Amino acid sequence: MELAGITKRFGEVVAVDSVDLTIDDGEFFALLGPSGCGKTTTLRMIAGLEFPTEGSLKIFGSETGTLPPNKRPVNTVFQDYALFPHMTVQANVAFGLKMRRVPKAQIATRVEEAISLVRLEGFGQRRSQQLSGGQRQRVALARALVNQPKVLLLDEPLGALDLKLRQEMQRELKALQREVGITFVFVTHDQEEALTMADRIGVMSEGELLQVGTPEEIYERPVNRFVADFIGQTNLLDAFVVSKDTVCLATGAHIPGPSDFSTGTQVAVCLRPERAELHPVDEVPADRPSVSGRLQGVTYLGNALVYTVDLEWMQLEVRREQQALGYRPSVGEAVAVSWDPDTVSVVRT
Ligand code: ATP
Repeated sequence: MELAGITKRFGEVVAVDSVDLTIDDGEFFALLGPSGCGKTTTLRMIAGLEFPTEGSLKIFGSETGTLPPNKRPVNTVFQDYALFPHMTVQANVAFGLKMRRVPKAQIATRVEEAISLVRLEGFGQRRSQQLSGGQRQRVALARALVNQPKVLLLDEPLGALDLKLRQEMQRELKALQREVGITFVFVTHDQEEALTMADRIGVMSEGELLQVGTPEEIYERPVNRFVADFIGQTNLLDAFVVSKDTVCLATGAHIPGPSDFSTGTQVAVCLRPERAELHPVDEVPADRPSVSGRLQGVTYLGNALVYTVDLEWMQLEVRREQQALGYRPSVGEAVAVSWDPDTVSVVRT
């Protein structure tokens, strides 16, 4: 699927701003961004529920133009499921096929297959109002899959589920996508969800597509401050570029920080809390860059501890897994925070 220069305006509002994106066949692609960034509008344009103001959209090489939704090889699963509450699971799943006058025998087989794909065997005769949230979600999925789409569009489909069920459904959806092998385009504002499930992620902000990459690329090499901050927890240390390999922190300290930005560019050094290390102030290994401050607090997370260090010019977080706890300073103690220079990235502010 190819989006080239896709723009959508609603009056004065530019909901989607000149997006170029290629999604490979069979890929699990997540569109990620905060509320209002334009991800739903992008999905709706792929579905044919909105038409672009500008740009071209091709699905399997053919220009979709103004093709209506039912003439596109796509199906959409929405967050609110949109099931018929009084109908049985079977009837809900069969509905689209009946409308299209698919022969009865074929409907029965396809419905049975779709129900078994989403592991709802034995629930065919239940009414959808008698199902749990997770089960309804599965019916909504079966209802889309029964049409054998080449692309499945999912708009925050797990949004209504509680955390545990959500995590379970994330694993199931990923397994299901592998099993059916079709392209999934998944919209979410939840970065963890995108990191867990997607082969690649597109991060959006204010209508623009800021970065496209694998979860690892996006997490390890964010292109700018917004992406760094939006994906996972991070410490952003303000700095400016001194040379191709060095930046200068607000403290005046020169530290390693490779970038292609020109000298003097305002940047931030992105240091993930789990990559930072705590030391007594006079015990920092000579080959590691560091900053010093005072331990302000410790947050207990069960499997990990998060130390908040006050550097006076900013606060920094250091995360330690319980089994990897070494040095355990007390609140108020002077501490140093160091890192391996290869684990940080320098981003534009
Ligand atoms: P959310 O996660 O809250 O659904 P989103 O990232 O999916 O957000 P969109 O729904 O695509 O964002 O909206 C992008 C922008 O376009 C927003 O500013 C929204 O108010 C605006 N917008 C969306 N649909 C319309 C519409 N039909 N008419 C006018 N403005 C719209």
